[in-house]
Amino acid sequence: MEYDVIVIGGGPGGYVAAIKASQLGLKTACIEFDEDNQGKQKLGGTCLNVGCIPSKSLLDSSYKYHQISESFDEHGIKVSKPNYDLAKMMERKNEIVKKLTGGVSHLFSHNKVEAIHGKGKLLNQNEVEVTDLKGKKKKYQGKNIVLATGSRPINIPSVPWNGTTVVGSAGALEFTETPKKLGIIGAGVIGLELGSVWSRLGSEVSIFEAEKDLLPMLDTDMTRTIEREFKKQNLNIHLGCFVKGSKKYRKGINLEVEIDGKIEKKYFDKVIVAVGRRPFTDNLLDEGCGLTLDEKGFVPVDDYCQTNLDNVYAVGDLVRGPMLAHKAMEEGVMVAERIAGKKMEVNYDLVPSVIYTHPEIAWVGKTEKQLRDEGIDFKKGNFPFAASGRALAAGDAVGSVKVLADKETDQVLGVQIFGNSASEILQQGLIGMEFSASSEDFGLTMFSHPTVSEALHEAALAVNKQAIHIGN
Ligand code: FAD
Ligand code: NAD
Repeated sequence: MEYDVIVIGGGPGGYVAAIKASQLGLKTACIEFDEDNQGKQKLGGTCLNVGCIPSKSLLDSSYKYHQISESFDEHGIKVSKPNYDLAKMMERKNEIVKKLTGGVSHLFSHNKVEAIHGKGKLLNQNEVEVTDLKGKKKKYQGKNIVLATGSRPINIPSVPWNGTTVVGSAGALEFTETPKKLGIIGAGVIGLELGSVWSRLGSEVSIFEAEKDLLPMLDTDMTRTIEREFKKQNLNIHLGCFVKGSKKYRKGINLEVEIDGKIEKKYFDKVIVAVGRRPFTDNLLDEGCGLTLDEKGFVPVDDYCQTNLDNVYAVGDLVRGPMLAHKAMEEGVMVAERIAGKKMEVNYDLVPSVIYTHPEIAWVGKTEKQLRDEGIDFKKGNFPFAASGRALAAGDAVGSVKVLADKETDQVLGVQIFGNSASEILQQGLIGMEFSASSEDFGLTMFSHPTVSEALHEAALAVNKQAIHIGN
């Protein structure tokens, strides 16, 4: 069977590449196989099945519960002691996942993408072998091939997963009861998001992070406030410490943690290992296919996701850059368009990041440290949500917006936000930055009042000491 495009992997990078290619008139197939799911077909990849969507479902449910328990009283709303039904919360999450993954299948039919169920292997630059659930093999020819097999969590030898007391992020989205004591290894995105979920639902959460600084990709003025706020939320974050070993008991697990040079033993009912993810290429490349991985296991590609083989592309978590669904999707679109002879590019300088804790943490562009390292003179403006009428009215006035702009040209080079709706506010900054907006452009743009977005307006005004609602 010959196709114009064969995509291996049905996650955000792969399914978007396949839909776009088909929309552009190319005969397209997408091969999907999930080993961790007994080989069941699960379009949508990590993001829809065990990542972005189920985690946000639990973040939203647990946040609603937390609000009722902690902040309704302040608004004068009286509720008798709230409770929650974890099984129902999980069922709701599973229904959302089902709806969205079913939606991708529907989009495939609508756009005439052929879904092939089986494990794909690249044989050469025009040929893929697919092994189905029964082990039967079949070959497919493609004028172009897109690799999009994503990533898997990293395991650490001192605390190996066992599927019960020690789990990765997927397991932590499936707990059937709230752990009393929850240990998390890694204070990255997953550690903070899932730590928030279980802490809101009542777990005593301890997070162990190897780095001395929390979220080193942000400026320290932002992370200081973030650390303070998380402390208030009972997320016990231990920085600069190493988990040296573990001992499993029938019901729980002991971690041996080195904190300040001393080994401490800490007991937990459950431990989540969230120390990053690795590109997933197990059995993907035939020995003679002509493609070799880099030293970290990524498929090497150029700025256009082209591998060293003509007509073979790779996108998403499988290649360099942040492991984010929106980055994977943009790369999927770019590759499909380039195969169809168009000229699309991805702007890798402006990939937004969001951590969906409460308050949310969102950033794009450069930090102060990066600008200094690159020898770029900059000016900065900051606006605290404590001075925002809308944030105060909502009873949600923690954090701030920070804008960094080039000292000479005034072009906005970075935005960092810690606060309510940071993800949505950031997007407005990002659109401006895509069009090379200056902080003055943001300052001259009218923002609806009262909105939390006005904090971006004021922070941009503050860059040139023109803020109205704070002292300059
Ligand atoms: P994947 O989504 O991993 O998809 C790869 C697919 O390929 C999988 O379905 C796999 O089964 C299939 N496959 C693998 N090998 C083969 C083979 N040989 N043959 C056929 N099929 C194969 N990102 C965000 O932007 N926002 C978030 O809020 C967010 N939250 C997350 C929360 C969690 C808990 C996790 C774990 C991740 C989260 N991410 C988030 C990251 C996001 O999920 C990934 O960046 C994204 O899914 C990567 O897309 P991808 O298409 O490259 O790979
Ligand atoms: P991460 O890279 O965000 O964080 C891992 C953390 O673990 C780091 O802070 C690292 O210093 C620490 N660490 C590494 N080894 C350690 C060790 N042995 N002991 C203690 N700490 C250790 O990775 P993650 O949280 O596992 O997430 C994986 C990927 O999934 C990320 O790349 C992220 O982009 C993506 N993701 C994104 C979102 C989102 O966009 N909201 C949500 C979840 C996951």
